Amino acid sequence: METQVRAEDRIAQAIEKTKDPALARELLREVRRLAEKFLEAHGRPAAFMEVCGSHTHALAEFGIKYALRDVLKLLSGPGCPVCVTDQQEIDAMIALADGEDRIITTFGDMLRVPGSRGSLMKVKAEGRADVRVVYSPSDAVEIAQRHPDKQVIFLGVGFETTIPVLAAAVYEAESLGLENFSMWMSGKLVEPIVRYLLDTGETHIDAFILPGHVATILGRKGFLWLAEEYGVNGVISGFEMNEILSSLYILLDLVLKGKAEIVNNYPYVVREEGNPGAWKLAEKYFMPVDMAWREIDVIPKSGMGFRPEYAHFDAKKRFPVTVGKPKPTACRCGEVIRGLIEPEECPLFGKACTPAHPIGPCMVSSEGACAAHYKYLRQ
Ligand code: SF4
Repeated sequence: METQVRAEDRIAQAIEKTKDPALARELLREVRRLAEKFLEAHGRPAAFMEVCGSHTHALAEFGIKYALRDVLKLLSGPGCPVCVTDQQEIDAMIALADGEDRIITTFGDMLRVPGSRGSLMKVKAEGRADVRVVYSPSDAVEIAQRHPDKQVIFLGVGFETTIPVLAAAVYEAESLGLENFSMWMSGKLVEPIVRYLLDTGETHIDAFILPGHVATILGRKGFLWLAEEYGVNGVISGFEMNEILSSLYILLDLVLKGKAEIVNNYPYVVREEGNPGAWKLAEKYFMPVDMAWREIDVIPKSGMGFRPEYAHFDAKKRFPVTVGKPKPTACRCGEVIRGLIEPEECPLFGKACTPAHPIGPCMVSSEGACAAHYKYLRQ
């Protein structure tokens, strides 16, 4: 039977885990002091959104979210690539798997995401499809080399960090002259979704904890528009306890001073310019395309798809599938990823929907908010 860990114990464990626990305690005290100051000045807690699933998990695992719950609103945003994938697209991926001539390759989390007709795991278990989990897209290229009689399709989901890795696999397949490798490209871009959230204004957000991994590609420069055009603060953060606490401290300090800045609090990993070389490779094969997000509909130029000259690698073109509109479910992942509700506000949370029997991607994915809350924040 699963043992439930109290959030208070998590705080203690997390503080012990860091290299400098005394600093962690001090930072937590300082963050709380500033958060209380904001609460007093504005009559409401400051609301910060993280747009990286790893931050969502770190905030829950280290007990930071729980420790500050009464003074600071920490919202989980659209930072998990599996969670933001549109339901209809999930259905299309599952339909794509049907067919004896092909091998579907994917990252592990995609396997368990429920669609309207089961999941990739279900079609695999029923022997209806050859679905294989790989650790990198280049493993899929290797499978294509070993199976020249089969079409090997990789399901490419991910943000700016992953998109160059997907491009590297296409480059590899192109260099090898493989004709039996293609990719179902569903890359997503951070800027359009953050703009969408700010433009719709359906969630009040005072500042963003910006994704450290994505920033390695985009650099601090890639987020300046947030402060310059929207007057909203952002801090690029690492993932350790003290890194996150110091990032919260920086954001609170900025919002209290009424400043709008983008601070790089992960300087030993993130450069001002990011990694233009990696992005150049991504742009060789892919270009911005309109993309549907889970329960958000289509956001113009918010995804990356194949350039027309590389259509022979584009599984969407080579193996078109038609699926109807998915049946509405009671899953509220769409609201979770937009910061409208906390996972616990979904009536299925912890009852019909658990990591063992997930109803939606936010409970399936290792980066999903529902999974993080279930594991670390359940009362
Ligand atoms: S608890 Fe389950 S059903 Fe509810 S929003 Fe999360 S993943 Fe969806």
